[in-house]
Amino acid sequence: MRGMHSSSGQSILKVAVPVPLASLFDYLPPVDGPVPPLGARVMVRFGRRRLIGVVVQHADSSQVDPERLHHVEPAPDGERAALDASLIDLLQWAWRYYHHAPGEVVSNALPPTLRKVSGKWPDAEREYRLTTAGRERLEQGAGRAPAQWDLLRQLADAGMGAQALSGWRDGWRPLLRKVMQSGWVEALTAPPPALDVKPGPQLNSEQKQAFDAIGGALGAFHCHLLDGVTGSGKTEVYLRLIEKVIRSGRQVLVLVPEIGLTTQLIDRMTRRLGIPPAVSHSALAEGERTAVWERAQRGATPLMLGTRSALFLPLRAPGLIIMDESHDPSFKQQDGFRFSARDVAVKRAAMLDIPIVLGTATPSLETLHNASSGKYHWHRLRRRATGAAQPSWRVLDLKQQSVTAGLSERALDLMGETLGRGEQVLVFLNRRGYAPVLLCHDCGWHGACHRCDANMTWHRGERSLVCHHCGHRKAVPRFCPECRADALQGAGAGTEQLESFLERRFSSFPLYRFDRDAVRRKGVFEQLAQEVRNGRPAILIGTQMLAKGHHFPRVTLVVIVDLDQALYSADFRAMERMGQVMIQVAGRSGRAEQPGEVILQTHHPDHPMLDLLFREGYERFALSMLEERRMVSLPPYSAQATLRAEAASRDAVQTFLVDARKAYQGPGAHVHGPFPALMERRGGRVRWYLLVQASSRGRLQASLAPWLDAIRRLRGARNVRWAVDVDPQDF
Ligand code: ADP
Ligand code: ZN
Ligand code: ZN
Repeated sequence: MRGMHSSSGQSILKVAVPVPLASLFDYLPPVDGPVPPLGARVMVRFGRRRLIGVVVQHADSSQVDPERLHHVEPAPDGERAALDASLIDLLQWAWRYYHHAPGEVVSNALPPTLRKVSGKWPDAEREYRLTTAGRERLEQGAGRAPAQWDLLRQLADAGMGAQALSGWRDGWRPLLRKVMQSGWVEALTAPPPALDVKPGPQLNSEQKQAFDAIGGALGAFHCHLLDGVTGSGKTEVYLRLIEKVIRSGRQVLVLVPEIGLTTQLIDRMTRRLGIPPAVSHSALAEGERTAVWERAQRGATPLMLGTRSALFLPLRAPGLIIMDESHDPSFKQQDGFRFSARDVAVKRAAMLDIPIVLGTATPSLETLHNASSGKYHWHRLRRRATGAAQPSWRVLDLKQQSVTAGLSERALDLMGETLGRGEQVLVFLNRRGYAPVLLCHDCGWHGACHRCDANMTWHRGERSLVCHHCGHRKAVPRFCPECRADALQGAGAGTEQLESFLERRFSSFPLYRFDRDAVRRKGVFEQLAQEVRNGRPAILIGTQMLAKGHHFPRVTLVVIVDLDQALYSADFRAMERMGQVMIQVAGRSGRAEQPGEVILQTHHPDHPMLDLLFREGYERFALSMLEERRMVSLPPYSAQATLRAEAASRDAVQTFLVDARKAYQGPGAHVHGPFPALMERRGGRVRWYLLVQASSRGRLQASLAPWLDAIRRLRGARNVRWAVDVDPQDF
């Protein structure tokens, strides 16, 4: 029997339960105990499992007969809200917009500890201070307990928290326990740190204009594009804004693409503002991440910095959101709850009625469109703040050139000259490993991954073949597995090969390789970067990793080994990304006194888009692509979603997608496909998709919800893994 059941004054809790289902679930309040508030965690029975859900709505009726509803059990912290009303509104918007299971979206916003049945709300962070008795003990000198006395001396000037004490020395906990037992030290809830601002440089006119415009309109929603070439002083503008917002008693949330590359920014903030940002990202230990969440919730930290996952940190007194390198593809989550952190951040700012700043040297076409249509405020910084010149470009035609490890003789000559002048060179190649494929020169066998449509990369140092798509690895065969010939050779070059070649060619100069294989351990990147910054002539080799965040002022020559693939890619965003990478890599160079030069090696020196990029710069390049998108109605001039499906068998995938397409009821959008994914097989699964396109986001949204309901009822839906991706970034 269906229909509305009124529950005579009894409240119904609508609970987001972390299961991959499209609905909320109805429960009754605890048998004895108060009704949990919105945002409270509750323990629910779900089938045979007990899970932590979050109350996201209160209702006075249910479609389910109340007789058949279960009561929740209160979580230990059941009387307080883990998520505040504004976050619940945001999450609700997000699960509707991205058509993702509400329970998973909501659970994703809790710190990992609080997602678990056994998880406890963390204690507020404590600060340890000397008592009067402690001061007296300190006066008496070390005596027979020098370590304890040392600790007292540490705490003499100001209280310290666990984090600071860990930095002081290992084994501080037992010492602390002893001095507390003696009554010399007491624990207090740590107060929020206070600003202690060091003066920065005087803003130039472009910076000042941006700062005045953004800083003069705090307290209401505006989306600002801070469009500034690398080195134009965007960070300086952030710092002034952060200071201003914190002084007004509000909090700032800073989002960055990758935490490993952010050390410089964190140090700079700490030095300038006198307070370290509370840093949150998914690689943090669970306890630390939860502690940061707790501080943010309590309003005990005015400044938070993190990656995509930090977007949902609670803000007690929100004042400003800053997204640095806002064009970066890593702001899009590509699996599970697929969302654009950039778009959700803008939505969050709008809902909180606070400003958001999107900073970048290479705005995405979507952002540029919003800026040129006047939806975003557009602030341009076109000069380097230090007065350094912009790097100049030189295109090297690779046709009929002899090439070693990917480098032409001309490029090698120019590198030699630069090193000879005592300067540094950066070689950019976005391909790890020794060679992208291992070939048999007798029979043509090549090392392909048996689970993906891809070759396995030869990692010579590790003597293995590794698939960069599914992680599969195996030993390098000694002889050809097909014809047994001793004729296996690598084809093409990766960073590892570049390194061993350049080591021989320029043996008297130090060489630093930056890629995920070389800087796997935490802190290694920073250590290498530090050595490079000491300024002696050297060669840097790097992947994408070097295109982000870090500045190497002594680099005066950048060599881009190969980006030709992007010029003729089937992905309509490939050209945009190529332009962004080129500008970002180029921006690493020549920041100090010496101007920089960038060399692009290509087989297509006359490509009109390259020409445009080099002659007119990124903005004109991007606007021209935007115009092309307008003519063929691609995003942002239309809205897209994909329905992705994958399974071990191609049949299952195709049957499902064909049925799904038939189930589409229109009007409003067009469904195209099924198409194979750009890499059809990955990790042993066949992947296809349907493309849904509409003239606006509103039309797309209106057609998606009923369609997805129909898809869920398809028989074939059980034979595949499927998901919808709204505003997809890859295919
Ligand atoms: P971006 O974030 O745009 O790459 P930064 O803020 O890091 O730029 O600034 C680049 C360099 O210029 C830094 O060394 C910074 O200290 C310096 N700088 C920034 N603004 C000014 C200014 N107004 N006057 C002098 N130097 C500045
Ligand atoms: Zn062979
Ligand atoms: Zn693979």
